[in-house]
Order: sequence, then C-alpha cells, then structure tokens
Amino acid sequence: MLDYTKIHEATGAVHVGNEPDPTTGAVAQNLITSTTFVRDDKGHLVPGRDVYTRASNPNRRSVEQKLAWLESGRDAFAFSSGQAASYAVFQSLGADSHVLLPSDMYYNTRLLVQEVFLAWGLQYTTVDMTDIPSVEEAIRPETKIIWIETPSNPQLRITSIPEVVKLAKSRGVKVVCDNTWSTPFCCQPLKLGVDLVMHSTTKYFGGHSDLLGGVLIAGDQTDESWWQQLKQIQVLGGGVPSPFDCWLLQRSLSTFPLRMAAHCQNAMQLALYLENHAAIERVFYPGLSSHPGHLIAKNQMRNTFGGMLSVLIRGGETMALEVAQRLQLFTHATSLGGVESLIEHRKSVEGIHSVSPENLLRISVGIEHIEDILEDWEQALQPLGSKYIKTP
Ligand code: PLP
Repeated sequence: MLDYTKIHEATGAVHVGNEPDPTTGAVAQNLITSTTFVRDDKGHLVPGRDVYTRASNPNRRSVEQKLAWLESGRDAFAFSSGQAASYAVFQSLGADSHVLLPSDMYYNTRLLVQEVFLAWGLQYTTVDMTDIPSVEEAIRPETKIIWIETPSNPQLRITSIPEVVKLAKSRGVKVVCDNTWSTPFCCQPLKLGVDLVMHSTTKYFGGHSDLLGGVLIAGDQTDESWWQQLKQIQVLGGGVPSPFDCWLLQRSLSTFPLRMAAHCQNAMQLALYLENHAAIERVFYPGLSSHPGHLIAKNQMRNTFGGMLSVLIRGGETMALEVAQRLQLFTHATSLGGVESLIEHRKSVEGIHSVSPENLLRISVGIEHIEDILEDWEQALQPLGSKYIKTP
C-alpha cells in the first residue's frame, strides 16, 4: 500500500483510491452499479460494507478520496453537479442568514441564491472581492459566508484568498471557495485557510465534457458539525452522482495533472498572442503581467494560471459573434475544462440578468497543439486585424 503522504501529484492522481480489487484482482476499477448491498447471515450490517448507494457506494467513496487528496483536504462529498454542491452549502445556512457573493461569478450560482434561496430567507450582497475594504463594509452581523471564485467567471478577477480569510476570521465568518477554474493544480485554497472548497467536477476534473458532477472538500480547519450537516444534505437530499459518473471521474482524474499542464501552457501562449492583436480590445488572463491581479495570482496560483481566458473584441457584440463563428478548431458551445477548445459569447448564454460585457468571448483553451490554436485565431481575426488599429 502506497504512503499517500509521500507521493507526488501525478502519482496520486493515478493511484489514490484506486488500488487493485482484493477479491477479483482487477487492476482497473470495477463499476458497481448495485443500489443495495447484502447483510450478514443474522441480518446485521457488515462493517466496512455499503448499505444503499444514495448513502455510499464504492465508486463514489474512491473518487471522493482522490478528490480530497488532490485538494490537500481531509474529506470530500461528491454531488450530482457543481450546482448541487453549491445548493447544499446555501441550504446548510438556514433562514435569516446573509452571504457575500462576488460581483463577477458563475452566473447560475448567483441565480441559485437570487431565485431559489432568497424565497427561503437567505439574504445576499454582491461585492467586488478584489476590494477588501468594500468586502469588510458589506459584512453584517448575520453574514455566515463569504463566497469567492478566483479567477472569476467570466472576467477572471483575482481575489486575494489570504486577505479575505484574514478578514473573515476576524469577523467570525466562513469562507467558501469555488475552485473550479483554478483547480488544485494551480491553487489550493484549503492551504490558504478557507473553510471549504467547492468544485464543478464537470469541468477540469472530468476533463472530457462527458460527465456531470460536483464536490465539497473539507480541510483540517473545517468545522466538524457543519461538515456533518453537509453530509446529511448530501445523503438525505440525494443529490448524489451515479456510480458510472464516479467511475468515469476516477478514470479521468488519472490524467488530471498532465491535462492541466497542457491547458495552462496553451492558455498562456494564446493570451500573449491575443494581447498583441489589433482586433482585441482587452485580454483577461491572470498570467499576463498587465492583469491587475497578476502579482496576487503569482503568489497564490503556484505560478500557473489556468486554462481559461476572456477577451473583448473590438467592434462590439456583432463582431464578437462573428469571430466565434469564424473559429474552426474552437467549438462554439458553453462549458469549459474539456480537452477540446471551446468558445462562448457569455452575454447570449447568460440572458437578461447578465452583467458580462457584450463584446466578451470566454475561451476554454483545450490541449490541442498550440500552433493549430494560434493559426485558428489568426484566420478568425484576420478580417478585423486589417480594419482596426490597436491603441495603446
Ligand atoms: N462553478 C463554476 C465556476 C462554473 O463555471 C460552473 C459551471 O459552468 C459551476 C460552478 C456549475 O457546475 P455544474 O454545471 O456542474 O452544475
């Protein structure tokens, strides 16, 4: 048995929670679809054996173990989607609580609070998380959670995790970090003191745009009674992933560090290319020294800045949509974090409540060869490059 405390990320991504099966000898993990598990001759529960798949299942347990390990956490609970994981957190707070949300964040997390939880008495305030004095001012006596997302979706704002944690601690407030975009490959918020990490495992962890999932991960500092309450919501609420999705996720995680290295490298090169293109008004990528949060990102993101970027196209919404259409290697579709490159006009997807700029394209950079990626942008921007002159 490997000592998980001593191995590197790439080794753990392959092996943690994925030991050969002692009964069959199978090296690749078995998929256990059974919803129920046999008791002993006297009808008693068998120690260490599952009872019912909503409560626990071997495939789910194994993937939870690997996800916790990758985030340097102590425990993880898997959910049927990222939204189901976020739902559990907000549900755990109870009526008359208040949360702080970032002014730029995953659109549907904000909608979840606004459209579902507000009716149950959960109040919220949106605040620019890059502006710590404003965050402090927005805290109320009933504030339970500061929710952060860094880089944020879709404007890639960088929040200083240590500064938010320090402020939250001084006011008795918990910090939850949606780490879907950074992933633990780039940033490990539990090590920086946050109380809980949330992920949409649909994205980089799944990595192939073929599974839905979410996870909550606790560190040593996570309040144990809150953690057990979240477990109850997972098991009694039943928003759990299927064994097949867990099995797929476990398999995908084996290549997670390799894929992330390629995503990050490609994104950095594409950001540098786009930053100097006449057709581009602005590039949002924390790896660029021109990004206002670059120094913070450099410190808390292990010097790798993720696979996501956004750009503002000169010429407004029409031009942005034209560019998205002209790209051939980048598929025009929502979501992110898969091996294939995707492009998306966020305002069209987010609809009437969107706060995204109308000429913003969000780019999920895949793991294709960088020369093909750059060539695709070159041909897509070419008609604009001749029309627009870059202003300093
Ligand atoms: N958090 C972030 C940052 C996301 O980008 C998304 C989805 O795009 C989610 C949460 C929601 O995840 P899911 O679609 O798995 O529910």
